[in-house]
Amino acid sequence: IDIDRFKVVNDTLGHAVGDALLVAVGERLRRCVEEGDVLARLGADEFGIVQRSGAQPTAASMLASQIIDALGAPYDIGGHSVVVGASVGIALADGEGADSVLKNADIALHRAKEDGQGRFCFFEPAMNARMHQRQRLERDLRKALTEQQFVLFFQPVIRLATGAIAGFEALVRWRHPERGLVSPAEFIPVAEETGLIGPLGRWVLDQACAEASQWPHGTKVAVNVSPKQLADRQFPEIVEASLRRSGLCPSRLELEITESTLMADVEGATNALLRLKMMGCSLAMDDFGTGYSSLGYLRTFPFDKVKIDRSFVQDLSVARESGAIIRAVTGLCSSLGIVSTAEGVETEAQLALLRAEGCTEGQGYLFGRPTPADDIPALFAAFSATSPRGQGEPFGPVVSVGSEVARRVARERA
Ligand code: C2E
Ligand code: CA
Ligand code: CA
Repeated sequence: IDIDRFKVVNDTLGHAVGDALLVAVGERLRRCVEEGDVLARLGADEFGIVQRSGAQPTAASMLASQIIDALGAPYDIGGHSVVVGASVGIALADGEGADSVLKNADIALHRAKEDGQGRFCFFEPAMNARMHQRQRLERDLRKALTEQQFVLFFQPVIRLATGAIAGFEALVRWRHPERGLVSPAEFIPVAEETGLIGPLGRWVLDQACAEASQWPHGTKVAVNVSPKQLADRQFPEIVEASLRRSGLCPSRLELEITESTLMADVEGATNALLRLKMMGCSLAMDDFGTGYSSLGYLRTFPFDKVKIDRSFVQDLSVARESGAIIRAVTGLCSSLGIVSTAEGVETEAQLALLRAEGCTEGQGYLFGRPTPADDIPALFAAFSATSPRGQGEPFGPVVSVGSEVARRVARERA
């Protein structure tokens, strides 16, 4: 049993109140247990109960609910009204030693906290495996940073009207010494939880800006920004430092932000985004359509681009609803003077429909998979094969997207 928010009480009201609170918690727990049960304080704000009576697992769940209710009621401590909660992890003793029962209960407690506080959770053997896997991943991630195992891949973003490359999205990869390339979908969440996203995000920004400074003028680079990064008050300075080191013009850096990033801390995010905007960076709303897609964000935040989530593009030819949604979003974007980019374009049929709906840009395997920076010159050559270089817009007008050359490049990447 772990007390939720105990640290806050200790930090704000002082240790004397914290001590008195622990005594009061102990009293309430004593009233929950039965004759013959064992109740102990295991650590700072952790308690344990050995329940010896009743049919399991029912008795344990009933006791856990009772504890959560009892500890959650307000306390009056030295004139302060204090409210805390409790999370409970439960392990059934099937003949294992006390150590292993305690360890399992602890793993279940972690899960209960992870699922949101004020809950109880039973230990399951799969949690053990998951926990070990997580710990290994975390350890490997720390090493990966110091041993420079990360690489940036780049995926082209195409202007649908001309077929020219508008820019590239930087996507991080992890070259794991044993597992090979690991997807960011697997390690970014762990990096966020452990705080490693800070140094990793800085590395991504540095690397992306340095690469982009080598590209033809006007080509943008898009960098994904996680909520934890934006929550760091220093974030605008971190971006500024990367721009300065690379000499990249701020207008060529685009920061991709998801809605969940905004929801976490609207005020903090607004300030940071306005500062970035004032520096000259552009802002894109990523994965549009998957969250709440509140139009309010498009009004309050100075977005330059909306990236329509690939799930809408994927069933464009089968589901009428997706077509309608894409039409509405591109229409909205053009009225607001915002660029609309469709993600996950894989087929010519999807491309034709997106063009017809007036979508500004496309990104997806049809144009090119994410590739190492070394392949970028070849992509420029492929996408501007028939373009008169050095005239007008640097790399347009060019071959139509989906031309044989572009297709070949896409196939080779695949
Ligand atoms: P995202 O920002 O939505 O990135 C697009 C993802 O779609 C990429 O997956 C890309 O490889 C994939 N994709 C592109 N075209 C197609 C297509 O035609 N079909 C399909 N099925 N998929 C396509 P990836 O590289 O695995 O990245 C996954 C997510 O990880 C990203 O989603 C992004 O949220 C996150 N991520 C990647 N790099 C970074 C980074 O440097 N920093 C942060 N904070 N997050 C990152
Ligand atoms: Ca993105
Ligand atoms: Ca996306």
